[in-house]
Amino acid sequence: MRVIINHASIFDGTGSPVFSGSVAVENQRIVEISDSPIAPDSGDQVIDAQGKTLMPGLVEAHAHLTWPTSVEKFVPGMYLPPEELALTAARNARILLDHGFTSAYSAGALSKTLEISLNAQLTSGGMPGPRLVPSSVEREPPNESELDPGKVEAHAIGPEGVKAFVKECADIGAKAVKFLISGESALKPGASHELLYSKEELMAAGEQARESDVWLTGHAHANDAVKWGVEAGFRVLYHCTYADDDAIDMLAAKKDEIFVAPTIGIIQATLDANPPPHMDMTHMKEDAAIVLAAQKALVPKLRAKGIKLLPGGDYGFPFNPNGRNARDLELWVEHFGYTPAEVLQAATQFGGEIMGMGNELGLIKQGYLADLLLVDGDPTKDVTLLQNKANLHMIMQDGKLYKAPQNLTVNA
Ligand SMILES: [Zn+2]
Repeated sequence: MRVIINHASIFDGTGSPVFSGSVAVENQRIVEISDSPIAPDSGDQVIDAQGKTLMPGLVEAHAHLTWPTSVEKFVPGMYLPPEELALTAARNARILLDHGFTSAYSAGALSKTLEISLNAQLTSGGMPGPRLVPSSVEREPPNESELDPGKVEAHAIGPEGVKAFVKECADIGAKAVKFLISGESALKPGASHELLYSKEELMAAGEQARESDVWLTGHAHANDAVKWGVEAGFRVLYHCTYADDDAIDMLAAKKDEIFVAPTIGIIQATLDANPPPHMDMTHMKEDAAIVLAAQKALVPKLRAKGIKLLPGGDYGFPFNPNGRNARDLELWVEHFGYTPAEVLQAATQFGGEIMGMGNELGLIKQGYLADLLLVDGDPTKDVTLLQNKANLHMIMQDGKLYKAPQNLTVNA
């Protein structure tokens, strides 16, 4: 039994112009792409996609499924009791898939093991959600902040402590291990320029990650945080706000193995937030304006050097809910000079690559896994279409129809 999608406009994920064509899916994979309608066999499911755009599923490069707020539920604060956190993360996973995100790369969790357990549920097919690169707690040295992961799990310090953490994360099944290499000015003024780890500790993390076969992910605003992260072998670096030309050259030298996500969603959401009178966001807004200006200058430079940049924007805060993830696409067009097709390539083709599946995910290509969206209208003309899940006529993941189109027919 195949699923045949005829008369579609196809955006294949490479950034090439949309073309008219038809696609057949069998089991998990795309088995045929044709420029004319594909004739169904008996029992095939057929979808007429006239007026709609078929594209690869979106990939969120900076997901926080355990950050509680979503478009369906506002949660003040960040911490929930464990049972509620588990259910909330499962709901957030479903919400991302509902909004067309068929894959997500975790940027860290508020629980040691939750994403790993959740991923087991997702991969067994028992629960809806994106393909997930799961992480453990975001690690930073012990501190007084509300988000201190030491509240979840105490960490030893020094190179040996860091190595033990990486090894433990790998042993329990995390695929990516997240470190806050530098701090966060939105939470503590000036902290984005402070290094939270020594170079020795980061190099130790890199050594252990290679030994344990796990990826390192870094929160890195400070210039040296970017440089040390590159040197230590971090695979994904977030923000990179204050990277200078030397840091950019270091990233460029490893452009085939490193991914950068500037996470503009949270910055714009901070600027847009309209907090109640008892919440003072003055400092956060001042910092966000600085970060936005820095990233508007930075992103074109990184791009010119061929560094892979991906959308993903720290969704999950009360003012930046999970489910709003596709807003990043619009922000890239608005702030970074991308065309819709270019940012869609970043969210699909590069998305497959950040998932470690670039040879089988992120493109509409024969033999690739069928993670597909059928969108009402043309998102390469208006990328904001993807912000409204009602425009997602069909969501297919791994060849299965998660959201079946209303006009699906079965050939007799
Ligand atoms: Zn984050």
